[in-house]
Amino acid sequence: MAGKAVVVGAGVGGLATAIGLRRAGWSVRVLERRAELERYGTAFGIHPTAQGALERLGVGQGFMERAVPYRDGRIRTPDGAVIANLPLERIERRAGRPELLIARPYLLDVLLGALDVPIEFGGEVRDVEELAAGHDLVVGADGIRSAVRRGRFGGRSGPRHVGTVAWIGIAGFDSGIHGETWGAGRFFGMTPVEPGKTNWYATVPEATTAGELRELFSGWHDPIPRILHETDPAEWIRYEMRHLHPALPSFTSGGNVALVGDAAHAMTPNLGQGACTAILDAEALTRAIATHARLPEALRAYDAERRRSAQRVALGSRGLHRFMTVRRTGLRDSLLRLLPA
Ligand SMILES: Cc1cc2nc3c(=O)[nH]c(=O)nc-3n(C[C@H](O)[C@H](O)[C@H](O)COP(=O)(O)OP(=O)(O)OC[C@H]3O[C@@H](n4cnc5c(N)ncnc54)[C@H](O)[C@@H]3O)c2cc1C
Repeated sequence: MAGKAVVVGAGVGGLATAIGLRRAGWSVRVLERRAELERYGTAFGIHPTAQGALERLGVGQGFMERAVPYRDGRIRTPDGAVIANLPLERIERRAGRPELLIARPYLLDVLLGALDVPIEFGGEVRDVEELAAGHDLVVGADGIRSAVRRGRFGGRSGPRHVGTVAWIGIAGFDSGIHGETWGAGRFFGMTPVEPGKTNWYATVPEATTAGELRELFSGWHDPIPRILHETDPAEWIRYEMRHLHPALPSFTSGGNVALVGDAAHAMTPNLGQGACTAILDAEALTRAIATHARLPEALRAYDAERRRSAQRVALGSRGLHRFMTVRRTGLRDSLLRLLPA
């Protein structure tokens, strides 16, 4: 089966979907509302399952050239005491390959390098039915505020705030230690991203200025205050933490529309699965399209493969967000100490 598709949104999910559709022999348009791709953003954790999906999309080698392994991640208390290990070694033992990290701009470059159609920039899609009239398939890869989702599913499911603010950035030195530090109602993370740099993120109930953020983490163990003082706040990104709620009844509609990535299941970043699930969606959707004789069957197969799985991850991420940001830390930290090494 081959046909004409339009992909709305040129983030990770949209670019990966467009690559998969082209490999399946489809004619593809990619519409992006921005004038160019935004090259900011910090590191994405890419689990072994999503690494496999990138390989099946034909971009495994380019990805591996820019990715770095994530090992030795610890969970610490604000005074620096290690109370548990992140499950990175367990993931590596089970999958036979490590969790990898890649800077968002590099992942976009890898995907762009494999896409053989131009992106049509500067057009914000508002009317899904207009697109559906001219194409066999419309893919909504247009993020948490998806117009494609709204067009087909209305406004019942939408972005919901979870009560915290996240700040992210890259420090120009190696932090030496990696993992997360969990305090009362807030946490700070440090991961590798490329040699000589540290990817960091901080989540707090609220902090509207860089000065407030620095204040909230003053007194935490080294090198957290140093990271916040030696990086330029002009390069930090601040966003209100949100997820899609309630969960959608389907990732497809009418036999000609499919949603992928944040448009389908935006989640809090606590499990580090936002980019992974978008890649898995894109690969599953385009594999179903390549292997089924009719589009409605392919979309049903895609929904069956991805919806429950992605929604379970989103629920787990939301639960972990609550657990990480409790204000009374005694019980939480005792539970953490029971985790297997
Ligand atoms: C600039 C940026 C920086 C980010 N940085 C980080 C980060 O550092 N860490 C992290 O964990 N996550 C980050 N994210 C989120 C992360 O990229 C996504 O959660 C994940 O990769 C899923 O991607 P997606 O393709 O589904 O959605 P997104 O990455 O949100 O991409 C959606 C795309 O659709 C476009 N779009 C939206 N509406 C329309 C419309 N109506 N018509 C046409 N185009 C439209 C948007 O401009 C965007 O390019 C970032 C997202 C963006 C956009």
